[in-house]
Amino acid sequence: MKIVLLGPPGSGKGTQASMLSEKYGLPHISMGDLLREEVKNNTDIGKKMKEIMNAGKLVPDELTVGILKQRLSKGDSSKGVVLDGFPRNTRQAEMLNEKFDAAILLELDDRIAIERMSKRRQCRDCGKIYSEGRKKCGACGGELYQRDDDKPAAMEKRLEIYHTETKPLIDYYKKKKILKTIDAMRAVDVVFSDIQKALG
Ligand SMILES: [Zn+2]
Repeated sequence: MKIVLLGPPGSGKGTQASMLSEKYGLPHISMGDLLREEVKNNTDIGKKMKEIMNAGKLVPDELTVGILKQRLSKGDSSKGVVLDGFPRNTRQAEMLNEKFDAAILLELDDRIAIERMSKRRQCRDCGKIYSEGRKKCGACGGELYQRDDDKPAAMEKRLEIYHTETKPLIDYYKKKKILKTIDAMRAVDVVFSDIQKALG
């Protein structure tokens, strides 16, 4: 089963993706993690990405899709996959050209998204992300900080981009008859049980 998760920042895509991965025994591929790994391992692609980002530019779709295709060509995703953080727009979806069985849309009010993200902290050393209530990283003891793009003003901009880019993507998956819309305002386990029902 090939599943793709869609939803605004704060909708719990990463959490639900890793729960689905465990439940169905499928690899969880997080686009954010893949990109961070390339940079961390200082690969040729990683170096190129760093250059682009340092220049304040967006990583081009060709590069992102290339990294993902490379990851998908590994044997573990032949039976299925849970993909999170990709695609962000229809162009990326078309470039990947992968047939998914379900596109799960986690719906969340902007107000709640901003509220959730304002509590988010990231570890300076290992990059692990926490939703709230910690002072130090549970994995490495590193210092936690709030990323600039999680601050309210930046969040409003991110949500605006999300809505503009995701609307056509929602229609794209609707036409393919694989879109499942889930109310992500509720508790993590309630959302998870709804996703399982939707998957049948
Ligand atoms: Zn850490």
